[in-house]
Amino acid sequence: MRPEILFPLFKDVTVLPGVGKRTAALIEKITDPHLVDLCWHLPASLIDRRYRPHIADARDGDIATLEVHVDDHFKAPRKGLPYKVRCSDHTGYLTLVFFHPHVDYLQKTLPIGEDVIISGRVDHYQGEIQIAHPDHMVLAKDADRLPLVEPVYPLTQGLSNKVLSHAIEGALESVVPLAEWLDDAHVAREKWPAWHEAVNAAHHPESENDLEPHHPARTRLAYDELLANQLALALMRRHMRKQKGRVFEGDGTLTDKLLSLLPYTLTAAQTRSIDEIVADMAQPERMMRLLQGDVGSGKTVVALMAMLRVIESGSQAAIMAPTEILAHQHYNYIAPLCGQLGIQCARLTGRDKGKIREEVLTNLADGTTKIVVGTHALFQEGVTFHDLGLAVIDEQHRFGVHQRLALSGKSGATDVLVMTATPIPRTLTLTAYGDMDVSRLDEKPPGRKPVTTRAMPLERLGDVVEGLRRALKDGDQIYWVCPLVEESDVMALTSAEERSKHLREIFGDQVAHVHGRMSPNEKDKVMQDFQAGAIRILVATTVIEVGVDVPQANIMVIEHAERFGLSQLHQLRGRVGRGDDHASCLLLYQSPLNDVALARINIMRETDDGFRIAEEDLRLRGAGDVLGTRQSGLPVFRLADLEKHAALLQTARDDAVLILNKDPDLESPRGQALRTLLYLFERDEAVQFLRAG
Ligand code: ADP
Ligand code: MG
Repeated sequence: MRPEILFPLFKDVTVLPGVGKRTAALIEKITDPHLVDLCWHLPASLIDRRYRPHIADARDGDIATLEVHVDDHFKAPRKGLPYKVRCSDHTGYLTLVFFHPHVDYLQKTLPIGEDVIISGRVDHYQGEIQIAHPDHMVLAKDADRLPLVEPVYPLTQGLSNKVLSHAIEGALESVVPLAEWLDDAHVAREKWPAWHEAVNAAHHPESENDLEPHHPARTRLAYDELLANQLALALMRRHMRKQKGRVFEGDGTLTDKLLSLLPYTLTAAQTRSIDEIVADMAQPERMMRLLQGDVGSGKTVVALMAMLRVIESGSQAAIMAPTEILAHQHYNYIAPLCGQLGIQCARLTGRDKGKIREEVLTNLADGTTKIVVGTHALFQEGVTFHDLGLAVIDEQHRFGVHQRLALSGKSGATDVLVMTATPIPRTLTLTAYGDMDVSRLDEKPPGRKPVTTRAMPLERLGDVVEGLRRALKDGDQIYWVCPLVEESDVMALTSAEERSKHLREIFGDQVAHVHGRMSPNEKDKVMQDFQAGAIRILVATTVIEVGVDVPQANIMVIEHAERFGLSQLHQLRGRVGRGDDHASCLLLYQSPLNDVALARINIMRETDDGFRIAEEDLRLRGAGDVLGTRQSGLPVFRLADLEKHAALLQTARDDAVLILNKDPDLESPRGQALRTLLYLFERDEAVQFLRAG
């Protein structure tokens, strides 16, 4: 349970004065809707109002704060002209200019004969010194109400910096001193402020320097966030390790036979990964291993080798895919091989009902079925295994930490192998999978041809269609991917459907589309037709089918490429170039391209190295563009910048290990404070792994 001292921070932003439903909805566009989330929303820049000249000295174009006397108000002489207020000091006159004024308000705020403080951008205009629509106007006696240095926050359309700053100031009132969770010596050495001071300092920068990631306040907060992350992962890892594992030592009969059945030899990376997995499974601890490999690097056969190892020892293995089509595809690949190996393989997805399902369940329960391929339905109620030794999770960057936890609860001492196609940068691996050992397929099977990548504006759709006409004549097969719009399935669906309709008008029945709302049977039918070549252009939304393997498909068209993240583009492109024909990828974009989108497209044209692309992706992703990361299930950091704080991450990792060695259940006073830290960063699930948690 969250400690009481944190309750105020986890209140909804609507408790703040001046924040109603409408503002809350806008805030929710930039961060989560609790006070604590506002505290994590740090300023990106600042406005310095400390320049305090006399009127005659005020430099054109600069932000200045002036103390002046209000002389007179002048109504606009006619429509379209501004309302003016003339002010002065002993050096000259300042004219305040207002278009569409609220006259009552101005007369109240700027009473004739009073001294006021005005802050805004100075404009020398037609011999006059002016400020149009000052940012601040207060009576001289209320001078302390005027912020001389104002933080400027990342915003969203409709939300002003003023409103957001005000809300954040309100949220900061809930920031109270908390017991220090960091090592005192560490804090002293780094000259870091205490947590509550750090939060306040981060929101009240005095100079540009205070906005730097290496400023002590920001560094401290980043460290807190990373430590919470690493501590949570370490707890999770320990929890999983603590569960008794099994020793699997196969005799090699099945694995050797599989190798002889394969039409190719394994790559060195595949062999190395298999060795690592086999060695891990032979240990008495539970295996928690990540198999990381770019699209097309051949993870499936590695997983199959691991599964056979477990079966040689008399246990069962399961492989779970994120979608039914992928489950289907794994099954189609694995089942025939199992047939040749003389072991029973079954499929279980959400759609398998009635008799078929009963039969699968019976065979799983009595151990007849050795390998089962399925979706998350595999780990639902009612599915019992005779003796599940290994669970393979084909993540395709969909599941994430939570699902791994759910699985660990379900499957007891089962070894776990997670496969991910996301070429995650090393730094991110540590944050997302710090709880796992990693095997890497850093080499592709031989014979892969580079994919020619081109970019074209959408206006040239006509040319693209002509190109497709020629390609179809040459017997090519084409994927056409439409984007997911703002996470809305409905929009994505319309765009794919509409594009499909348009292409059908031109190319007829060779075109079909597939999307998430179709029934599994319909989807399968389309995929099978595409695989068989009866359908030559497949229009799809991305999310559904990232992992499909149709080797003869050789052209990938990505519509609205500017809306995709780099890693997504890379994943999609990886769908082609698997067969014998020359492959190409066409990035269709909506012009004009912004800088980031342009950079992404250029990188795509330059390289197909998944790791390089992942690093560039991380680099290009501004704070405002974490959508891709969110969708991928990777952790999103609000305070830490993984590039700039990379060294901190390493320290946090070591720190977490040290902490748990000394105080395994976080019971010491510092341990208690660390529990608060975990709650503060919403790692509640990790606390449950502590005794007396
Ligand atoms: P992914 O890592 O994307 O899941 P797959 O396991 O689907 O990759 O493999 C992609 C394709 O490469 C499959 O058609 C598979 O049969 C083939 N493949 C896997 N390993 C090799 C290899 N060592 N040599 C040649 N082809 C291979
Ligand atoms: Mg795969």
